[in-house]
Amino acid sequence: MDCPIKKQCGSCQYIGMDYSKQLSIKKEKCEKLFPHQRVHDVAGMQNPYFYRNKVIVAFNQKYEYGLYEETSHRIVPMKACLLHDEQTHLVLTQLQKMLKKYRVSIYDENRNRGFLRHVLIRRAVTTNQTLVVLVGREAVMKGSKNFCQELVKACPSVQSVVLNINNRQTSIVLSKQEKILYGKGFIVDKLCGLTFKISAQSFYQINHEQCTYLYHQVLSLLDLHKNDVILDTYCGIGTIGMFLAQYVDTVIGVELNHEAYKDAINNAKMNKIHNIHFVHDDATHFMVELAKQKQKIDCVIMDPPRAGSTQAFIESIKVLQPRQVIYVSCDPSTQARDLKMFNKIGYKSRDVYPVDMFPHTNHIESLISLSRVS
Ligand code: SAH
Repeated sequence: MDCPIKKQCGSCQYIGMDYSKQLSIKKEKCEKLFPHQRVHDVAGMQNPYFYRNKVIVAFNQKYEYGLYEETSHRIVPMKACLLHDEQTHLVLTQLQKMLKKYRVSIYDENRNRGFLRHVLIRRAVTTNQTLVVLVGREAVMKGSKNFCQELVKACPSVQSVVLNINNRQTSIVLSKQEKILYGKGFIVDKLCGLTFKISAQSFYQINHEQCTYLYHQVLSLLDLHKNDVILDTYCGIGTIGMFLAQYVDTVIGVELNHEAYKDAINNAKMNKIHNIHFVHDDATHFMVELAKQKQKIDCVIMDPPRAGSTQAFIESIKVLQPRQVIYVSCDPSTQARDLKMFNKIGYKSRDVYPVDMFPHTNHIESLISLSRVS
């Protein structure tokens, strides 16, 4: 399939390339990074398009919407994109008409004038619910009641509209200040048999199908026992830990972002999972403390951001001596660096399982399972 905007936004480095070729390039990259491991074929998607459940666009003064050009702040107008689903574009096209009709002014970053800075769309693909976040410079949007009613009538998948108020001169899209204009301020999605509330700020994996695959892969690599205590570190809104809780005695999730931590607690309550606890802390600090207390930990799941984990985190593993560590990574190069540290403390892995979480881009998700050898 051809990219309708001819790759100008720069997000999809591999678009237009045969999908099986993309997968083999990603496998080769992993083989280079992990010369002593058996790298499995990259788990790809049946239909590697329209998978992104979150998009942030900006509008220009002509009310065209799109992504920024790779190297500038020029908006590349986009009628369609091969990564976003049809509903996303229906909602965006409707918004485009209505922003014009309601004469909503568009933010001009050079003059720091105008109202609308960005629009964020989140989709819950299993329930077909859409959350619309309008990022505006002021706390009041004139005519918002009629605006929302008209939007929801035209696009019934829209369950909620939120105004995020961002009046700082910054390239960070969302501020912490929000006002619900319509609905409850969140949408609900189902993942691995559980229900999750997704609000404007929540971290949520952007590819539902591959995320489901990844979590099942984590489960299949784990050798779990009923009385195990497992740690879900860098846990986000608690999705992996909640999925695993049914197989073990206790799960402890640790997460640095306060919003995600709060979402995790609420999600556990909503799913009536009582054997999971969440801690709001830096994962390394938490591990070092656990190591001082010599806590019994059977398995550790770690899913750090691209920067990977830390030496102190890994040294705490040496003290805690879990039977197994599952390392999920969105940047195999830092994972390969961390693997060397694991080897030094006596934890080894044999296999690397790459997952194509982000088809058409050069990003790779990968999974390794480490076991204590001594
Ligand atoms: N496992 C989750 C989230 C993975 S993304 C999932 O599958 O959805 C990585 C998470 O690590 C993010 O939620 C981020 O907020 C969190 N994080 C980043 N740095 C951290 C740190 N130093 N300590 C704990 N959590 C951290």
